Amino acid sequence: MVNNEQNKIEKVVSLAKRRGFIFGGSEIYGGLGGTWDYGPLGVLLKNNVKNEWWESMVMMRNDIFGVDAAILTSVKVLEASGHVSNFTDPLVECTNCHRRFREDHLEVLDKKLLEKISKKLGREVDHIKRCPHCGGDIDLKINPSRKFNLLFKTYAGPVEDSASLAYLRPETAQGIFTNFKNILDTMRPKLPFGIAQIGKAFRNEITPGNFIFRTREFEQMELEFFVRPGEEKKHFEKWRETRFSWYTDLGINKKNLRFYDYPKEELVHYSSGTSDVEYRFNLKKEFDELEGIAIRNDYDLSHHAKSSGIDLTYFDDKENKRFFPYVIEPSAGVDRACLAFLLDAYCEEEDKEGVRMVLKLNPKLAPYKVAVFPLLANKEQLIEKAISIYKELNLDFMVAWDDAGNIGKRYRRQDEVGTPFCVTVDFETMENDTVTVRDRDTMKQERIEIKKLKSFLEGKIK
Ligand code: ATP
Repeated sequence: MVNNEQNKIEKVVSLAKRRGFIFGGSEIYGGLGGTWDYGPLGVLLKNNVKNEWWESMVMMRNDIFGVDAAILTSVKVLEASGHVSNFTDPLVECTNCHRRFREDHLEVLDKKLLEKISKKLGREVDHIKRCPHCGGDIDLKINPSRKFNLLFKTYAGPVEDSASLAYLRPETAQGIFTNFKNILDTMRPKLPFGIAQIGKAFRNEITPGNFIFRTREFEQMELEFFVRPGEEKKHFEKWRETRFSWYTDLGINKKNLRFYDYPKEELVHYSSGTSDVEYRFNLKKEFDELEGIAIRNDYDLSHHAKSSGIDLTYFDDKENKRFFPYVIEPSAGVDRACLAFLLDAYCEEEDKEGVRMVLKLNPKLAPYKVAVFPLLANKEQLIEKAISIYKELNLDFMVAWDDAGNIGKRYRRQDEVGTPFCVTVDFETMENDTVTVRDRDTMKQERIEIKKLKSFLEGKIK
């Protein structure tokens, strides 16, 4: 087992790079901070995560509608939502190395150390924080933090002036609120109902880091679930549970997941409840936010209605009145979810041949569902048969092919990327049309008739 958790994230980062999951963005030019590229296996994992979310939130329900709104966003939208004036983080600069940090991410110095510095300098030093880069002092009294807006600006059109200024969206949610009336008019939904979206979001984070945990370009899976005012608490509780179970149903160990319920004094003024689903990422803190679930009341709809002059109320034909619905927002990060699934799945197990690295990913999330091997790479017969099985399975599953090295090594390679099953074509196959199927987690092998392979795998995976 991997005992050292800090070590675990390093191992996952190295595996992700070595096996084609995730690479640094613009890497051949030295990289671009806070950006990552998903490779062949990473994109499969990421798409599986998104598909699972979309399936459970949109496809399996008749009360939630999907949208895919534009990333380029009008300044007016983000003025109305409050992002232009308030979407800021406190920025501080170290006077020694001149690097910049988010004040609330700086380590709080321990009391004894503070007392020591205080004695030495002969004054109170509660306002001194330690620079994570050079270890120097950051004196917040001399250099107080300033508000740094996280929005990415760009220009839409050939003229770069204030009239063509546009933003890359900092969250997918606003594209949902601005389409609220379109959904009402075209789909005629009745409360309660939801609008869901998966897509890229951009934030000029002061200190991106911890691999794909905090990046400047990332993906979100967001739902705005509209309800009658007065019913928001009930729906909020339900969404908290639903979202928590989504992660555990997909294999995250319950022990590594918890809620952080915001106390009253930490809630934004319009919210009557916010909970984060936190995962034991073991970064600076043990637990960090994976997904936020918030009651947003009618804050967004009423602000957009006021700013745009468009009526964004819902007409209730039962009570014959118009009102702004309240909204519950479960907002999850795709990349953070991928990181949580990878960390949770990673393990090292000792067997007689040494230590094997395994990604015990839920088969639904695994990049490849099955690998097909000819036992020997120089026996035409076996290769031909294996290719025909590969082609057949490929119609229904993502299949890996490997004919390099001995079987033990091939199993190891598939274990490392989380492939739940390996199918080997051997000499017995040529006699009785059976293959060995090896299970990633138990390492047990069983013989299965080729004609039953598809249903066997379907039973285990779908
Ligand atoms: P944090 O406090 O970690 O900055 P947040 O509270 O600002 O996050 P939200 O605005 O609630 O995050 O966004 C919803 C989800 O989007 C988060 O739970 C997270 O999974 C994801 N997310 C937000 N910012 C980033 C980022 N910079 N990189 C990767 N994922 C992110």
